[in-house]
Amino acid sequence: MKTPTYYYPHKMGRIILQGMEEVMGRNGADAVLHFASLDTLKTEPVVHAESAFSFEAVSLLQRTLEQLYGPRGGRGLALRIGRVCFKYGLREYGSILGLTEMAFRLLPLSTKLHLGAQAFAELFNKDTDQRVRVDENEQQIIWTIEHCPLCWERKAEAPVCHMAVGVLQESLYWLSGGKIFNVEETACIARGDPACTIVIDKIPLS
Ligand SMILES: [Zn+2]
Repeated sequence: MKTPTYYYPHKMGRIILQGMEEVMGRNGADAVLHFASLDTLKTEPVVHAESAFSFEAVSLLQRTLEQLYGPRGGRGLALRIGRVCFKYGLREYGSILGLTEMAFRLLPLSTKLHLGAQAFAELFNKDTDQRVRVDENEQQIIWTIEHCPLCWERKAEAPVCHMAVGVLQESLYWLSGGKIFNVEETACIARGDPACTIVIDKIPLS
């Protein structure tokens, strides 16, 4: 049986392309799209707004970064692109999620982490085919992704969903007003795990 095709909506795909462009420059981003034979992503989304960016395409973009820049270089770029994506994402979705309201910003950090994670997961669950579950214990937030676009149909020895790690790092930095948190992908579907799991320590490093 053929696996069904899952999608990110147009808006979210645009955010990834904007992130790539900011980190790599227009030429660098175009080179990645060209190498991945995904040049049409630059124009096509406008036509199929609700189902523009297939998970295959999202996964291929990240894999192409690793092919062009090596595993380490590609990982570094994907992390940076993820961080920048959060900034654009906040502009696009922040007010819908209630994250930019003063009342939210004034809450204690632990409450903001809890509510922020819930709202962010809800965005993916409602607007995309990606499924996110949030679990918490005293020390950690556990962000579990099923139907993960970043490692879609990939096989790897170690976790590869770096862009998701970057997005979460930047969201925590923003939520906490400039603190750094340990964020680590501990399980990945590409490695044979049942889901992609990103563990966030609730106590910042600095
Ligand atoms: Zn993944």
